[in-house]
Amino acid sequence: MSDDSAAPTPPEGLPEAVVTELNGLSAEDLRRAIVHAQELLQWQEDTPSQIELHPGEDVIRVNERDTYTEVVKTVPCPEGCEDCPHGPYLYHVREEQRPEGGTHTHWTFIGEVDTEKN
Ligand SMILES: [Zn+2]
Repeated sequence: MSDDSAAPTPPEGLPEAVVTELNGLSAEDLRRAIVHAQELLQWQEDTPSQIELHPGEDVIRVNERDTYTEVVKTVPCPEGCEDCPHGPYLYHVREEQRPEGGTHTHWTFIGEVDTEKN
């Protein structure tokens, strides 16, 4: 590899830390990074929308929309009353970018769902 030739321009939006890290890798490490990235991608696509459930919660229905994911789930209350679990409740789940990098999952409570109608 010649130092005279300009390094390829990274795709727009790729975090600078990642670019710097990749630029410093040997060909061998780059291949490992590609393999790992592909595995991560595969894994993320297999995991529906990073929907994390708390113990006792039960997902009734998941619908992927353009900008969010519709999730209907039942939720137990902390006390564990006689009516538990409660719901089912409808949530809109969005993947949001953190200012410091990475993403977090934002759940918006929409309301109770009448399962009789569905
Ligand atoms: Zn309860």
